[in-house]
Amino acid sequence: MALMTGEEYVESIRKMNMQVYMFGEKIENPVDHPILRPSLNSVKMTYDLAQMPEHEDLMVTTSHITGEKINRFTHIHQSTDDLMKKVKMQRLCGQKTAACFQRCVGMDAFNAVYSTTYECDQAHGTHYHDNFKTFLTYCQNNDLTIDGAMTDPKGDRSKAPHAQEDPDLFLHVVERREDGIVVRGAKAHQTGIVNSHEVIVMPTIAMGEADKDYAVSFAVPVDAEGIFMIIGRQSCDTRKLEGGDLDVGNSEFGGMEALVVFDDVFVPNDRIFMDGEYDFSGMLVERFAGYHRQSYGGCKVGVGDVLIGAAAVAADYNGAQKASHVKDKLIEMTHLNETLFCCGIACSAEGSKTASGNYLINLLLANVCKQNVTRYPYEIARLAEDLAGGLMVTAPSEKDFKDPVIGPVIDKYFKGVANISTENRLKIMRLIENLTLGTAAVGYRTESMHGAGSPQAQRIMISRQGNLEMKKELAKTIAKIHE
Ligand code: SF4
Ligand code: FE
Repeated sequence: MALMTGEEYVESIRKMNMQVYMFGEKIENPVDHPILRPSLNSVKMTYDLAQMPEHEDLMVTTSHITGEKINRFTHIHQSTDDLMKKVKMQRLCGQKTAACFQRCVGMDAFNAVYSTTYECDQAHGTHYHDNFKTFLTYCQNNDLTIDGAMTDPKGDRSKAPHAQEDPDLFLHVVERREDGIVVRGAKAHQTGIVNSHEVIVMPTIAMGEADKDYAVSFAVPVDAEGIFMIIGRQSCDTRKLEGGDLDVGNSEFGGMEALVVFDDVFVPNDRIFMDGEYDFSGMLVERFAGYHRQSYGGCKVGVGDVLIGAAAVAADYNGAQKASHVKDKLIEMTHLNETLFCCGIACSAEGSKTASGNYLINLLLANVCKQNVTRYPYEIARLAEDLAGGLMVTAPSEKDFKDPVIGPVIDKYFKGVANISTENRLKIMRLIENLTLGTAAVGYRTESMHGAGSPQAQRIMISRQGNLEMKKELAKTIAKIHE
């Protein structure tokens, strides 16, 4: 079974026995919980699209290990063409969900761990690459969704992992046994964890010898003993409990994040991909972050496409579509959005082969891509709010709209152009609200800022990769300076 249908995916998650907490309660059935279900639907879309012949070229590829058809989300990139197709696939998924579809973190972890374990084995004589390939083959054969867990809670940012007052603020090995290791700690902001089958854990920063026990990478099922998750709130999340469709803006799709706690979790030897090789921690972080910064040049662009479309529809419904400033704002939004796409494609086209054989993006350009993503979606959202008008945040509730007495009043006074129903006008307002201020704003705005690393993390990489010395030499040569 190389490809699961969307329904099979949902049933496979339903069978898992995860420990999930939200609003002070243990959630026994996360799959059908109204707050969580939209996030599962977003991941399901990565399975549904792979079943459609018109999307096969982007969604489905061939495993370089087994030669079988696999979902691209489980693929090891074999060329720069693969890297570009990855970005295009993410744009497509963003367009179809208008949310974070979560499955990319696993794909990015696959590719970072693949090349790093290979180079670590070369340097240390370890056998992590074989471990990883076995795990990867299992994931490809069963079409699994994987959470890529990097971000530790980090405690006091001025202190290294081993120097924290609480040793668990970075995930670490607490026991080494004949058959494996026991780990303790947590990973924060884990996108899609409740919708994943397995989790790949990676260290969050470059480490020194004193942090040896923190330089650890492995994979375990998300329902392994000792793992539990606490779901993060999103603004307007409880609107999903109200039953209607209108007020949530995007009733079918969403994203989710959680704090995932590893409370003395056992990891068998064959699932370990790094244990103490602190000199490879930085490489793993840099590569995973690089791949995920590339990803944002696809997924956020797809969501941006929906937001631009929504703003244009709002302008149509207001009868403002012919105003020159409205047209110009839509051009500006498009320009910004396509600039992000250019970055995603450029860092892919400029990718190169690693020693392990898979392809890595151009790290400088991937960091430039993500740095732009920390800015442009904010401007696109600002322009969308401008075009939508104040009704986006003052519109009455669906219950009022459906009320036999109050409803007709709302219908009369919130009508735009005559041939469009007030209900449709309210629907597009709520979608823009959802994308800029509501639950999807987690994925479109704040995740654009902090996901795959906060802006300063990219600036450090840009300064490292920018080759300033070479540029100084260029200037001296042109100026005929001989020092
Ligand atoms: Fe994928 Fe984007 Fe969500 Fe990251 S933020 S998991 S790249 S959709
Ligand atoms: Fe993300």
